Amino acid sequence: MSELRYDPVKKVWSVIATDRSRKPDDFLVKRLEFRKEEINICPFCKGNEDRAGSEIFSIRKKDEWLTRVVPNKYPAFRIEGELKRTGHGMYDAVNAVGAHEVVIETPKHHVNIGSYTDQILYNLFSTFKERLIDLQKDTRFRYILPFKNYGLLAGASIEHPHSQIIALPVTPNVVKTKLSASLAHYKSKERCLFCDILDQEREENSRVIYENQDFVAICPYASALPFEISIYPKRHNHCFTSTDEGEMSGLADITREIFLRLYNVLENPQLNMVVHTSPPVVKRPSQPAYWTSIREDFHWHIEITQRLSGVAGFESGTGFYINPVAPESAAQYLKGAGK
Ligand SMILES: [Zn+2]
Ligand SMILES: [Zn+2]
Repeated sequence: MSELRYDPVKKVWSVIATDRSRKPDDFLVKRLEFRKEEINICPFCKGNEDRAGSEIFSIRKKDEWLTRVVPNKYPAFRIEGELKRTGHGMYDAVNAVGAHEVVIETPKHHVNIGSYTDQILYNLFSTFKERLIDLQKDTRFRYILPFKNYGLLAGASIEHPHSQIIALPVTPNVVKTKLSASLAHYKSKERCLFCDILDQEREENSRVIYENQDFVAICPYASALPFEISIYPKRHNHCFTSTDEGEMSGLADITREIFLRLYNVLENPQLNMVVHTSPPVVKRPSQPAYWTSIREDFHWHIEITQRLSGVAGFESGTGFYINPVAPESAAQYLKGAGK
């Protein structure tokens, strides 16, 4: 019997369709592959730095770069200009002021999700942190999103390992829903919604995939998609930029473990990874009460979703999904695939 489950964070229903339960092998479809790109034309490879655009930030060891941040060549948002809000009758618009940066994760061209090292991931997350700290100073930006697309189906257009950071002049609805859910929970219970979820998940232990000293990875109770994963810091912390050195190592460790398990179980799936952190806490004259309890009510986290199947009519008509892999089964498959 299938079950409708409600996600208290995203405020959506998902159908967990256990009677059409699927195994990891069922998702091994023929994938789009990158053209065999020659390394000497890849703009992100070592030696081709001048093709990638002017460097915004880098982590270096002696003379060698380990990560580099460059502007996106085809930006969805541009950094120049004043923020303008306009209205045409029923319709509202804001000009696309923002930032769109690319993080080149390593000088190495061939790194699949099964071969990431702690060091590459530590450098990647440290780069996210430094860029967030810098971009948060710009009061035009309402939300800053670091994310990774892996594979053509997931939106990556270049094979070389990279992530992106987008700074937006508006708060996305997905984030607004999470912020309002966590605020409402805090107002009625004086506790963090995410800390409560974590406590329960660790106690029930049926959807936990892996944990280390500072982080826990779970398949969420109302997962909309097969093999969806959330990673939470154990320490209550609203903002990713407050992650300390020790926690950064823990984050690199848990992400490597999850990538490796996904690689093993789903044979190198295409995926998206997003970091959801607190918006920049800037006082807005129009909303003076904003963010008064955000330090207490929000809890930053990472979401990883696999691009395993397309979206059908039911999904686009209802906004909720039929998931043929119960998160309990997904967690069991991934838990046992660590080596
Ligand atoms: Zn390359
Ligand atoms: Zn919390």
